[in-house]
Amino acid sequence: MTSFAELKLAEPIQKALAEEGYTTPTPIQAGAIPYLLEGRDLLGLAQTGTGKTAAFALPILNHIFSNRRPAPPKGVRALVLAPTRELASQIGESFAAYARHMKFSYAVVFGGVGQGRQIEATRRGVDVLVAAPGRLLDLIGQKYIDLSTLEILVLDEADRMLDMGFVRDIQRIMALLPKQRQTLLFSATMPPSISDLAHSLLKDPATVQVTPESSTVDRINQAVMFVDSGSKKDAALMLLESPSVARAVVFTLMKHEANKVAEFLNKNGIRAEAIHGNKSQGARERAMSGFRSGAIKALVATDIAARGIDVDEVSHVFNYDLPNVPESYVHRIGRTARAGREGCAVSLCDAEQRAWLKDIEKKIGKPIPVVTDHPFHSEEARLSTQRPPVLGGGRGGGGGGGGRRRSGPPSGGRPGGSRGGAPGRGGPRSGSR
Ligand code: AMP
Repeated sequence: MTSFAELKLAEPIQKALAEEGYTTPTPIQAGAIPYLLEGRDLLGLAQTGTGKTAAFALPILNHIFSNRRPAPPKGVRALVLAPTRELASQIGESFAAYARHMKFSYAVVFGGVGQGRQIEATRRGVDVLVAAPGRLLDLIGQKYIDLSTLEILVLDEADRMLDMGFVRDIQRIMALLPKQRQTLLFSATMPPSISDLAHSLLKDPATVQVTPESSTVDRINQAVMFVDSGSKKDAALMLLESPSVARAVVFTLMKHEANKVAEFLNKNGIRAEAIHGNKSQGARERAMSGFRSGAIKALVATDIAARGIDVDEVSHVFNYDLPNVPESYVHRIGRTARAGREGCAVSLCDAEQRAWLKDIEKKIGKPIPVVTDHPFHSEEARLSTQRPPVLGGGRGGGGGGGGRRRSGPPSGGRPGGSRGGAPGRGGPRSGSR
């Protein structure tokens, strides 16, 4: 097995890695770092939890260390574009940790907060800028940032950026970059839109793939429980009360549902916080730090908000609602079993979401084991042939870009807070995710 020493990273970087407790490179690191140190472009197919941040951060730092020169005022040597502010902050923190024994400057810019500090942080130029696309364009437009001397570009979670509607922003940023540069594109999935983007941005790229199916998903203990929608809250509470649950992420489809579930859990003795795009930056940061410290046991999140949850010791993922996009299931459960740990993912499936479960099983290529031995089991949900609900329009939270919109006639809605009742019909189901 490759070691970090064999990867020939500079000594101060190796020292920081040793202090971080990293002994061996993960597969994406072992695969990508040698190409990146040669200056090659790279297409990295890897999801969060595989160690992809270090896979691009370490070679960038190595380049900065070995080619020491100051960035020009307002200039940037390496730019990392990320879809959400949380992810951008975490990438920034990772750089800072790995660079702690070398001279290095960086800044993180994203929307939703005042720009004064971000302008100050980039004024003299930085080695690395981590940015959400919307705010970056704002600052470039006001001439606070200049990308004309960029050496390395990373697009992180490119599939999510496209999902969140950042394609135009990305194209506008690309047009401002020098042609001569090293470009890295990381994506968990490879839909045609990503291969097109890769084709247009990368020159003779090396491809390194770490499929979630073989790395993370197989290490996750998965189960599904069929329940009526009215008993989901109680079922979630029962799951969270289990002593084996150390830290859990609970996924809902809608923001208002996330709020209600968090409120219900708090009332019943489980410390929980909802995080979604409507929460202020401060509230999200408080929730994340409470979750990291263990003061908060459950984060209740919508898919888009959850992109930024980067905490290693998530023992459980609970799908309060199944996702309507099968790929989101893989992303969601990848919040657990990170960095080689074991993890558990339990999904609550009601009659309306039964069809989505079938799509997910098709996507992961195997059936998810069903648990029936619990007080909330519903045969009606298990045998349901209902058509899944069509979701109302919504705007995702994130670094300032547009959200994905879906529209269509609302179908069966449900009273969110009723306990023990049958699924309600007739109310419009709408809300934002
Ligand atoms: P990422 O996929 O970049 O979000 O990384 C997932 C987690 O794995 C992060 O918390 C890293 O700190 C951790 N990690 C990354 N590389 C290694 C490594 N080589 N050894 C141990 N942990 C790692």
